[in-house]
Amino acid sequence: MEIAEIHIYQHDLPVKNGPYTMASSAVWELDTTLVKLFSDTGHVGWGETCPVGPTYAEAHAGGARAALKVLAEGLIGTEAVPGILHRQMDRLLNGHNYAKAALDIAAHDLFGNALGVNVAELLGGAVTDRVPSYYAIGIGAPNEIARLAKEKLDEGYPRLQIKIGRRPVEEDIETITKVWEVIKGTGMRLAVDSNRGLTTSDALRVSRELPHVPFIMEQPCNTIDDLKKIRPKMGHGIYMDESSVDLNTVISAVGTGLVDGFSMKVTRIGGLTHMRAFRDICEACNLPHTCDDSWGGDIIAAACTQIGSTVKTELFEGVWLAAPYIESNYDPKNGIRIEGGYIQRPTGPGLGVTPDETLFGKPVASFGS
Ligand SMILES: [Mg+2]
Repeated sequence: MEIAEIHIYQHDLPVKNGPYTMASSAVWELDTTLVKLFSDTGHVGWGETCPVGPTYAEAHAGGARAALKVLAEGLIGTEAVPGILHRQMDRLLNGHNYAKAALDIAAHDLFGNALGVNVAELLGGAVTDRVPSYYAIGIGAPNEIARLAKEKLDEGYPRLQIKIGRRPVEEDIETITKVWEVIKGTGMRLAVDSNRGLTTSDALRVSRELPHVPFIMEQPCNTIDDLKKIRPKMGHGIYMDESSVDLNTVISAVGTGLVDGFSMKVTRIGGLTHMRAFRDICEACNLPHTCDDSWGGDIIAAACTQIGSTVKTELFEGVWLAAPYIESNYDPKNGIRIEGGYIQRPTGPGLGVTPDETLFGKPVASFGS
């Protein structure tokens, strides 16, 4: 079974009740990129990649489409098996994991569709069909963030992430304190994410002033060297997010004990092939992690849910999805939704979702047809 056609689509996803606010940026609308693979056997697979604006990571929507165009021509005729496709992509283009991820996800969908097997089964098998999610609250006034924390607690989310940074650190400390007053004793877990936005001294101050609040700090500072500086002095666990750009970085961070876990993005690490390896490294070293992506619609949401369903329960920190910020689904029937803080995993073949492709208009580029 070989790849016969590749089609690339562009689609806009407005942010519901926007903007979504992080230390690095505020976003009102996201530009997502979809790919559709056809095999010579007539099977179809969909992939997606959607950087959350141009400043969150070293990735942007136009860059994804440019890289996909570089790759696509050389993939026609390649065997439509995820591992083989991945090696061929690496022969054609160095880096650009976030673009390769769209094709890698599409190859998993296609391969699963051809075999009549769900992607979670291709990845080792689901341990649950009810996948935990977590909610991320953007930067805001302490009382408002505490009110939203209560709302998300009542909705049933098992975990909460609050964004901090880009303002006086006293306000961040006050926000965390007020949120903890709301969720203390409920069992809801707390992550504090500064999206690279704190100085090393402010990160240490947040930890020192809140020794009684059991949060983990997600990517407190900008660089790996910054994390190394604060690591010995921190009273809280550190999770790596933005800095974990590839498997080599993950292996180094795990091997040196730099972090206590990861917030991992499927597209940042290069798709489901690398995400599976990442999951297994974390399980071997007993490190918790999430399975997220930065943004995107049903295709990326299904990919995150399928890999998330395969993670050892005790180590799983949940799947973050952009779904609560998006008006509608690509797949009106089996589209991914969060209900009561959990996601029902679609169990059909491939990713388990079938997009209504009329939403995407004509392809911006087609190869092999
Ligand atoms: Mg993060």
